[in-house]
Amino acid sequence: MAERPGRKPRRPHSARVVRTERLTPHMQRVVLGGEGLSAFSADTCTDHYVKLLFPAEGVTYPEPFDVERIREEFPREQWPVTRTYTVRQWDAEHRELTVDFVIHGDEGLAGPWALNARPGDTLWFMGPGGAYTPDPEADWHLLAGDESALPAIARSLEELPDGARAYAFVEVAGPEEEQKLDCSVEVVWLHRGDRPVGEALVEAVRNLEFPEGRVHAFVHGEAGCVKELRKLLRVERQIPREDLSISGYWRLGHNEDGWQASKREWNARIEAEQEGAPAA
Ligand SMILES: Cc1cc2nc3c(=O)[nH]c(=O)nc-3n(C[C@H](O)[C@H](O)[C@H](O)COP(=O)(O)OP(=O)(O)OC[C@H]3O[C@@H](n4cnc5c(N)ncnc54)[C@H](O)[C@@H]3O)c2cc1C
Repeated sequence: MAERPGRKPRRPHSARVVRTERLTPHMQRVVLGGEGLSAFSADTCTDHYVKLLFPAEGVTYPEPFDVERIREEFPREQWPVTRTYTVRQWDAEHRELTVDFVIHGDEGLAGPWALNARPGDTLWFMGPGGAYTPDPEADWHLLAGDESALPAIARSLEELPDGARAYAFVEVAGPEEEQKLDCSVEVVWLHRGDRPVGEALVEAVRNLEFPEGRVHAFVHGEAGCVKELRKLLRVERQIPREDLSISGYWRLGHNEDGWQASKREWNARIEAEQEGAPAA
């Protein structure tokens, strides 16, 4: 089909599954590759993410795959379904993109897809986006999250310069979910056990004795937990907004479509509650 004038199509990348690896009982690594990654790169942020595009059930899209065209020509319920995942590693030399998926049961699209992924399977995705890299000028770093943020936390820790002072807290289901990371920072692994998601993480960050100096913080995970942590860090600890990368990566009881649709309002309400800003 001819390009429409005046519009630069947002073409997704296509990828093929090269190999998979079960890192822990609840974390599946999928390495993507193939010719479709020739225009991809991801080397400026340590929280780079991609938007995986899963076809709506029973729908075949026209070639070349063009999300905007699909959105114009197909009814909403037939649009591809988006799921957001961190670039755990981008190997520019071999053009391989590694993504680590939390396996959180039978529910959802991306988790089950990753669990069943086999070499040769294909996948479309947009991106990358990203906004955070540990600031080398900061006096110390705080990284906190659950297993959904572990890929970004791990990547960030690996990029920290030698000697950088950092505290990293990662909440996981239990000891079997701990990963060996290639970094000099000692990660504090918090085992959730039977406690509600996020409780152990909030407790650990609350109990941290904050060192002197400017902190640069990266805090992501379940939205309810992140809300508590935001209050602690923004309101109680008065960390300036620009030194805080903080957001809900997922929300208990909501799939990503529901969470993304409500996220703006959720964030505005939290800001109003915590900082007295007018709610949007
Ligand atoms: C910038 C960004 C980067 C992210 N990076 C990663 C990453 O690298 N790896 C990763 O695994 N996730 C990551 N996430 C989170 C991921 O996008 C969500 O967990 C997403 O909802 C998973 O999609 P799904 O199709 O498996 O489940 P959905 O269909 O979205 O949800 C189905 C059900 O599962 C629940 N659920 C979703 N995620 C989890 C979870 N982690 N634990 C327990 N229950 C859950 C939902 O609340 C819902 O009830 C990231 C999110 C963002 C915004």
